Amino acid sequence: MEPQLTIKEINPEVFIRAERMLRVLFPNFSSGWIEACKDRLLDVEYIGKEKNADVFHVKRNIKFDGEPSGRGKSWGYRKVTLWSGKSGFCSCFFGPYSYKRRKELCSHIGACILFRFYFQILKQQEKV
Ligand SMILES: [Zn+2]
Repeated sequence: MEPQLTIKEINPEVFIRAERMLRVLFPNFSSGWIEACKDRLLDVEYIGKEKNADVFHVKRNIKFDGEPSGRGKSWGYRKVTLWSGKSGFCSCFFGPYSYKRRKELCSHIGACILFRFYFQILKQQEKV
């Protein structure tokens, strides 16, 4: 992926296929979690490589974070570091609900995985 990459306009066909891949990767996760990841897709920006990981920023969505809006304003984004597969780390792990998030995997990471799938599929289509 090219650095500083965002999705400006969603290709519905690619989006559906990427969502399917996310569901296959996380079969035990709720539809609510999948929906939260989908809602965040346009908020994801791919920043670039850092060692063996991909680094993303996810613009902060106060509605889903459920934290007081006053505090939310100063954050701006979450930083997500993603290794291969499901392995990732999010800056929200340091937040007030960090234990729960770490255990369940936050939708910031899910959104970045979905973003990665999206571009994988897009690339495959271009080759055809
Ligand atoms: Zn997070």
